[in-house]
Amino acid sequence: MQVFHSIADLRLFLKNQRQQAKTVGLVPTMGALHEGHLSLIEASREQNDVTVCSIFVNPIQFNNPDDLARYPRTLDADCAILAPAGCDAVFAPSVEEMYPEKASLKFDFGDLERVMEGKFRPGHFNGVGIVVSKLFNIVQPDRTYFGQKDLQQVAVVRRMMIDLGFQIELHPRPTLRESDGLAMSSRNRNLTSDERAIAPHIFEGLNLAKAQLLEGQKPTEVKAMIEQHFSKEPAFRLEYFEIVNANTLQSVDEIQATNQTAMCIAAHLGKVRLIDNFVF
Ligand code: AMP
Repeated sequence: MQVFHSIADLRLFLKNQRQQAKTVGLVPTMGALHEGHLSLIEASREQNDVTVCSIFVNPIQFNNPDDLARYPRTLDADCAILAPAGCDAVFAPSVEEMYPEKASLKFDFGDLERVMEGKFRPGHFNGVGIVVSKLFNIVQPDRTYFGQKDLQQVAVVRRMMIDLGFQIELHPRPTLRESDGLAMSSRNRNLTSDERAIAPHIFEGLNLAKAQLLEGQKPTEVKAMIEQHFSKEPAFRLEYFEIVNANTLQSVDEIQATNQTAMCIAAHLGKVRLIDNFVF
């Protein structure tokens, strides 16, 4: 496995691979890798000759400076698990390499970003749009792999790929969870042991909500139940719980059998902000 810090070096490596008619898969990450990330690497390996994992904590997608400062950075440990996982190249640029000048382009994803993550993290999806489109241009992969854990990110990236005509296959992959149901996340390592012990409350809430919806309860009733569920664990601060159309991400008043529904949640636990979702 080769590790690249410079765009030019990575481009040269990839040019060489393409001259040998090899296909390229890209897994964009911010590092502090866990099995959820490795499942994306695995999917890429199955479908491509060369797998590139980018590791870049993208400052312009953070609206909270403390969250950016606290975000775990563990490049050596990440490389130590990527190599045996069969990753071929790691792209770990510095901020200066990615942004020699402040990016002035602005993405506006319309209704897709007026809700949930976009609403509570202003500017977040602009930062995602810039970094992902830049990575696509640098790597020019045949396929790219994203986790459904970040459901809204997948929707935004899909929109961007259609609007800008990227000729790349987008492969969303299911969320990997710990044995107690907590969605794997790089931010989990910032939880204290007490916080980690109650973190599965999110998954439990989603399961309760799903059961109620399938029994025919209305989204408004289920939302009230979730607020109550979180009021029982004062360490949590529920930021949002939404029941949405899984494609448009807009709230629904009724569950329709013809449309996929998603339940999306964000909650603060101590200093850590956690998100999760179910699609069904
Ligand atoms: P991140 O490093 O958090 O930006 O995540 C990089 C990629 O891994 C994104 O496409 C995430 O959606 C995906 N990812 C993060 N957590 C998980 C998980 N628990 N299961 C599957 N994919 C994940």
